[in-house]
Amino acid sequence: MTQQIEVVDSAERSRYEVLVEGDVAGHLGHRTPREGVVEFPHTVVEDAFAGRGLAARLVRHALDAARAAGLQVVPTCPYVRAWIGKHPDYADLVTPVVEVVDGQAAQVGTLGVRRVLPRRGRRLVGAWCFADHLGPAEVDPDRSPGVGPHPHCGLATVTWLLEGELLHRDSLGTEQPIRPGQLNLMTAGRGVQHAEEGTGYAGPFEGVQLWVAQPDATRSGPAAFEHHAELPRLDLGAGTGTVLLGAFADAVSPARRDTELVGVELRLHGTADLPLRPDFEYALVGLRGAVELDGVHLGPGQLAYLGAGADELRVRVPERGRALLLGGVPFAEEVLMFWNFVGRDRAELAEAARAWNAGDDRFGRLGSPLPRFVAPPAPWPA
Ligand code: MN
Repeated sequence: MTQQIEVVDSAERSRYEVLVEGDVAGHLGHRTPREGVVEFPHTVVEDAFAGRGLAARLVRHALDAARAAGLQVVPTCPYVRAWIGKHPDYADLVTPVVEVVDGQAAQVGTLGVRRVLPRRGRRLVGAWCFADHLGPAEVDPDRSPGVGPHPHCGLATVTWLLEGELLHRDSLGTEQPIRPGQLNLMTAGRGVQHAEEGTGYAGPFEGVQLWVAQPDATRSGPAAFEHHAELPRLDLGAGTGTVLLGAFADAVSPARRDTELVGVELRLHGTADLPLRPDFEYALVGLRGAVELDGVHLGPGQLAYLGAGADELRVRVPERGRALLLGGVPFAEEVLMFWNFVGRDRAELAEAARAWNAGDDRFGRLGSPLPRFVAPPAPWPA
């Protein structure tokens, strides 16, 4: 006796369902992260129907439907990814790019920036919770790219320059110039304040300012600062990768990290295959030139979110280009951001703002020629 098995598209539930004698025995979710692409987040088969090859039927059906509709596929579900691995005739459907985010133009002091994190619908990549592409701009001592004293808590700031100079000063007593190729890493913990001042430098200026959310284990701890003048580099054939944080292949940054993450600046000319960790989610941020990922062209100030599960990424840079690869284990703790603070709830963030505006010792002391910032009112109802 053969049972009747069929796969149907339950469009209102955004999933394919496998029916056995009319009963739903399993399903495969689908969503549309961008035009021309379908993502398969998860596959489920009810225990009572396990071992009958129903998940494979769902996957084959969904992939055939994607092909017939001319769609590319993001196999976020590990089962779907593994199934495609065993059926290479479907591998051409896979795209590494889940979505592309255009950076939002903003102004930081005198400097124009493009903010690619956080954006609506994309708050985090691993523990990376903020990313500004600074400039490029021409600066001089009268138009220096500095920012006056302002506080942080619950995050680490990562400063990386492509061109120009800055002077970092903070309430720990640090006074540290930074130049291209060097890393400034300030961990805020419960509270710190800093200023980024001009050095008298005149010329082209460009950089990135990144924040990393701290986990509960360290976010109430002491502040700290590190400067790294030298960072490990990896030869990628068609260029090099400089490891700011974490490990990339066998190159390991000496910088502190509080969670499993990675940040790599890529300088490429040609095609490079980047090694990825399947347990990390990743994003690629365009900095200079045109960077191509499987037909998706990424310009400066754009972010391509790549999801998790892949073990390799092919990047093509026809001329010369620079990009930033950010990745990490998806951050499991809730993250709430307000102004320069990262926390877990509104009360905590409101208290940080109150303490800063009251001149509380929590954020230490710092004199600077630049004006001190005032925390704005919280954007939620009191
Ligand atoms: Mn800052």
